[in-house]
Amino acid sequence: MKLSTDILFPLCGFSNFMKVTEHIKHADATRVSFEILPPLKGGSIEQVFSMLDPLMEFKPPFIDVTYHREEFIYQKRPGGFYEKVAIRKRPGTVGICAGIINRYSIDAIPHLICGGFSKDETENALIDLSFLGVKNVLALRGDVRKPDDHFIPEEDGHAHALDLVRQIVDMNQGRFLHEETVDGGHADFCIGVAGYPEKHFEAPNLKSDIAYLKKKIDAGADYIVTQMFFDNQKYFDFVQQCRQAGIKVPIIPGLKPLTRKSQLNALPSTFHVNIPDDLYETATACNDEKAVRQVGIEWAIMQSRELIKAKVPILHFYTLSNVKTVAKIVSKIF
Ligand code: FAD
Repeated sequence: MKLSTDILFPLCGFSNFMKVTEHIKHADATRVSFEILPPLKGGSIEQVFSMLDPLMEFKPPFIDVTYHREEFIYQKRPGGFYEKVAIRKRPGTVGICAGIINRYSIDAIPHLICGGFSKDETENALIDLSFLGVKNVLALRGDVRKPDDHFIPEEDGHAHALDLVRQIVDMNQGRFLHEETVDGGHADFCIGVAGYPEKHFEAPNLKSDIAYLKKKIDAGADYIVTQMFFDNQKYFDFVQQCRQAGIKVPIIPGLKPLTRKSQLNALPSTFHVNIPDDLYETATACNDEKAVRQVGIEWAIMQSRELIKAKVPILHFYTLSNVKTVAKIVSKIF
C-alpha cells in the first residue's frame, strides 16, 4: 500500500507547538515545565484540567504525561481461588496529551516506554502521536512491572531505552518496520531520555551509566531530563561528567519538593535518591506535616534559585499530583 507523507504526518497548524530543543533555543531565561501523572482509573479529564489550570499562569512550554504499564494482582474468585489478572491503574496518557494540546495550545510530551510494547505497537503508537500533533516524546525503558523483580521486555520489544530511541530515529528518517513510505514519509519527533545524577539503581557506577546515556544521545536523542535530586551539587557534577564524556545536549534538571515526612524514606527507596543531612534533620524535627511541607517548599525554592543562577534551560517539576505545593514554589522563584 502506498502511504503519502502528508497523510501520515500532517503539519500541525499551530506555531507554538515546538520541539523541546526549539523551546530552549528561543528562551532568553530559565523556564518552568511540569510532569503530571494520569489520574487513577475512573478519573476524568476535568480532574486533569483542574490540576493544570493553576499552573498555566507560569507559561510552561510543555507538560509531560507519564505512562504506567499494567501490573499483576491476584483477585479472589468464587470458590476461594485466586486468579492472576493484569490491570492498568493509570491509563490515559495519550488522551490526556490530546486534551492538553486542545485546551492550552501548548506541547504535551507523552512518556513512551519499552515495557509492554512490541516494536509494532510502538510504531503504531508513534504514528497516532504524530497525527495528534505531538512533537516530542520522552523515550524510556519503563519501570519494572509489579510484582516482577527485574525488567522483562516483550518478546518482540525493546530491552533498553537505547533501542527505543533507535526505532524513533529510524521513523524520523523514514525507516518503518515492514514497509517503506513511497515518497519519503517520515516522522519528526524530538526525543528526550532520562539521566540519573545519582546513577540508575541497576548501574554498577555513574561512569558506566553515563556511558550508556551517551549511547542514547549518539543514537539521536535530543535532550536529557534528570531524575529528581535534592542536592544541586549532584546535578552540577553530573552535568560536568556528561560534558566530559562528550554529551552536548541540554540537561534539564528534574525537581520534586518533599511534602510528607514519610517521603524521607519513600523517595530514596522508590527513586534511589539521597536526602541531604540538612533536609533530613530539619524535616525530622518538624512536629506536623504542615511544617514538613513548608520545609520542602523552602528547600525546593533554594534549589530552584541556585539552578536558575546557573542558567539551566528549564526547571522541570515532578508534581506527583501535588500541584498546589509546586505552584507555591514556582510563584516564589520568578
Ligand atoms: P535505560 O536507558 O534502558 O537504562 C536502564 C539501565 O540499563 C541503566 O542502569 C543503564 O545504565 C543500563 N543500560 C542502558 N542501556 C543499556 C544497554 N544498551 N545495555 C546494557 N545496559 C544498559 N517509568 C515509567 O514506567 N513511566 C514513566 O512515565 C517514567 N517517566 C520517567 C521520567 C524521568 C524523567 C525519569 C528519570 C524516569 C522515568 N521513569 C518512568 C522511570 C524509568 O523508566 C526507570 O528509571 C527505568 O528503570 C529506566 O529507564 P531508562 O529509560 O533510564 O532506561
